[in-house]
Amino acid sequence: MKIKLTKNLAIALLSAIFLLSACGDEKGSHTTSSVSEPAKTFQWKMVTSWPKNFPGLGMAPEKFAKNVDVMSNGRLKIKVYGAGELVPGFEVFDTVSQGTAEMGHSGPYYWKGKIPSAPIFGAIPFGMTTEELNSWLHYGGGLELWREMYKPFGIIPMAGGNSGAQFTGWFKKEINSIEDLKGLKMRIPGLAGNVLAKAGAVPVTIAGGDIFSALQSGAIDASEWVGPYNDLAFGFHQAAEYYYSTIWHEPGTGLEFLINEKAFNELPQDLQKIVEIAAKAVNADTLDEYNARHHVALKTLVEKHGVKMRTLPAPVLAELKKYTAQVIAEQVAADKGFAKVWKSYSEFMAGMRSYNDLTLKEYYQNR
Ligand code: CA
Repeated sequence: MKIKLTKNLAIALLSAIFLLSACGDEKGSHTTSSVSEPAKTFQWKMVTSWPKNFPGLGMAPEKFAKNVDVMSNGRLKIKVYGAGELVPGFEVFDTVSQGTAEMGHSGPYYWKGKIPSAPIFGAIPFGMTTEELNSWLHYGGGLELWREMYKPFGIIPMAGGNSGAQFTGWFKKEINSIEDLKGLKMRIPGLAGNVLAKAGAVPVTIAGGDIFSALQSGAIDASEWVGPYNDLAFGFHQAAEYYYSTIWHEPGTGLEFLINEKAFNELPQDLQKIVEIAAKAVNADTLDEYNARHHVALKTLVEKHGVKMRTLPAPVLAELKKYTAQVIAEQVAADKGFAKVWKSYSEFMAGMRSYNDLTLKEYYQNR
C-alpha cells in the first residue's frame, strides 16, 4: 500500500512538472485543452454520392471517418451516409453548402452546372492522368484554385481519392465509326457528356446506383462508370455485351471531400490538421486499392463472365479529341473561372506531357 501511494505520488509529480514545462515552452499560447476542462467533441454528418459501403468510392469516406475518430481520440466523430440515405447523391454539394451536413464525398464534375470549372479538378477528356492531377493539385497551384472556386459556396474542397484511368464503358452494340454514336443514349458525366453531344449522342446523368436498371431496361444504350473493380460490383456485364477499355473521357478521376467552411473553422487547429492529413491519406489509399483491384476484376470479367473486350477505333478517338478541344474553347470563352483554372491546368499538363513522353511512355513500351 505504501509503495503504491509513493508510485502514484511520483506519477502526479512528474505530470505536474511536464504540464508546467509545456506551458512554459509555449508561453501560454496553447489554449485548446487543460486538465480541468475536458476537450470539446464534435459530431459531424458526411453525405456521399455513392451507395453505402460501395467498394472503393463508398469505402473512402468510411475509412476517412474511422481514421479521424482514432486520430482525434473520439473528439471528432463523423457519421457517413450513402446516397439517398439523407439526401440524393447529386444533392451533396448543396447540403454541405447549406451546412445541413458538415461534410460530403463526391466527384467535382457533378457540379459543372453550378461551377463550370469544377470538372477540371476531377477529370477532363484527354486531360491529366491520376499522378499528374495529384501533382498539379498539391504542388502546381490546383488546390488553391479549387478552394477559390468553391469559396463563394462556403465549401472547402480537398482531394478525396482517385479511381485511376476509367474505361470508356459498357455498350449494347459495337462502335465502329463516329456515326454509331449518333442518337446513342449514354450515361456519362462531366465535359465528356458535352463532347459526346457534339458527336450526336445523348448524354445522360444518372446516379451510380441507378445505372444497372437503366441499362438493363434499355432506357440507356451505354454507360460509363469507373472501371473493372466497380463495374464488376454493379454487374454491368449482365446488362451490356461489349466493354470498351479505351481511356479518353476520365484519364484519372479525382474524387473530393467537401467541408462546410464554417464547421471547419469551428474546429481547433489540431482537429483541422487531422482532417487534412486523413483526407490526404485516403486520397493515396483509394488509388492504391483501385490499382490493385482493377486488373484482377478485369480478369474475372473476361475469363469468368466472357465479356467481349473492345477498343474505340482511332478515327473515332480523333473525332472525340477534336470535339473536346471545341468544348474546352467554349467553356474558356463562357466562364472566367474556367479560363483561369484551365490556364493553370493546361500549362502544367504541357510540362508533364513532355516529361512523361520522354520517360514513362518509353518505359511502358520497353518493359
Ligand atoms: Ca466515371
